[in-house]
Amino acid sequence: MSLSLIAKSIKASPTLALNEKAAILREKGDPVIHLGGGEPKSRAPMDAILAAVNSLNTGEIRYAPADGTPELKKAIIRYTEEFYHRKVNPENIIASGGAKQAIMVALQAILNPQEEVIFPSPYWVSYPDMIKLCGAIPVPALPEDGSFYPRLKDITDRVGSYTKAIIINSPNNPTGAYYSADFIAEVVDFCEKKGIYLIMDDIYHRLLFDGKKTYSAYDFTKESVENSKLVIVNGVSKQYAMTGFRIGWAVANKKLIEAMANIQGHQTSGPSVLLQKAAAGAINGIQSSVESLRLTLENNRNVLVDYLRSFSGVKVTVPDGTFYLFADFSAYEKDSQKLSKFLIDKVMVLTVPGKEFGLDGHLRISYCGTIKDITEGIERMKWALDPNSPNELYIGDRKLVRDWL
Ligand code: PMP
Repeated sequence: MSLSLIAKSIKASPTLALNEKAAILREKGDPVIHLGGGEPKSRAPMDAILAAVNSLNTGEIRYAPADGTPELKKAIIRYTEEFYHRKVNPENIIASGGAKQAIMVALQAILNPQEEVIFPSPYWVSYPDMIKLCGAIPVPALPEDGSFYPRLKDITDRVGSYTKAIIINSPNNPTGAYYSADFIAEVVDFCEKKGIYLIMDDIYHRLLFDGKKTYSAYDFTKESVENSKLVIVNGVSKQYAMTGFRIGWAVANKKLIEAMANIQGHQTSGPSVLLQKAAAGAINGIQSSVESLRLTLENNRNVLVDYLRSFSGVKVTVPDGTFYLFADFSAYEKDSQKLSKFLIDKVMVLTVPGKEFGLDGHLRISYCGTIKDITEGIERMKWALDPNSPNELYIGDRKLVRDWL
């Protein structure tokens, strides 16, 4: 079979593959603990469900405008005022099939083949492949100081005549690092001076801990929305626990949004009207579920950090937000894919290898599940990796016997 060069350069999403793996093992009856997931386990807000049910009951679910329904755009305008302190117009907004599609069509609208996009590393797994889908070149920027907090120099060192855009995701998947206001201000200023697009992936911006407050790139721009090359991406997936609804959006200048809508119109048309209703319901509705999710995640993070700290050899950077922690396991095994596979095979705990995010020797551990999953998952990992552990471990009535180390 002859596939295109682009198709051959694209990998399967490792996080989606892991979800499938967990489902297969569970079906077999294996007591799997999935610490690799990327979605909160709480229910979608009631306002979202009611809005969707009312819409469904009409029996009239038709095509949506390519750039989103007026009702959802209105909700996003309000959201942008509240969280970004910017008044934007409907022409500045596109609603897409998740933040993923919003980023994808933004990249398609701005990138020519061979142009380059820089993003801090570790990075969300999809950025490199999305950029490659445009025939362009991903340029990850690993902070030189070994931390998860990039400095402007880490980015500017990689800027050249082909640099077209920078993507910033803060708080970050996979590290949970929330970049400083000074850093964001510097990046905004740099992009404005150089005329580089800046895509802010803010999908986790309300899931911050320790009293940290959100700020946005709009707080630091000197340009009006129309003159700006800033693209703000957000969505309902994480903050409202609505991953399966597949609604995200982008806010940018009119011209760019129009180009993105033209592309999306030919790709998928607008996202389902039913799901846009649900998203508008969530944004306009009672917001208490976001705070209760945030509190649960903060508590889960604290428990996970405590457990991991008792795990000698594992280096932990405390996440500022999201529901991921990116721990350094290189004292046990430098090859993160090998380590992740070992933990699945031996103790049925799923984690995502750091290599997928651009940094080997680490594992991404999610804490969006239950406390029981977190504590039991880490106990099992410890048993598998610590040479001083007892020889046997019981999982329910299943006896595991160590035949390694
Ligand atoms: N950006 C980041 C950093 C993410 O982690 C994710 C989801 N894993 C997305 C974007 C995409 O979210 P959505 O479900 O809205 O497509």
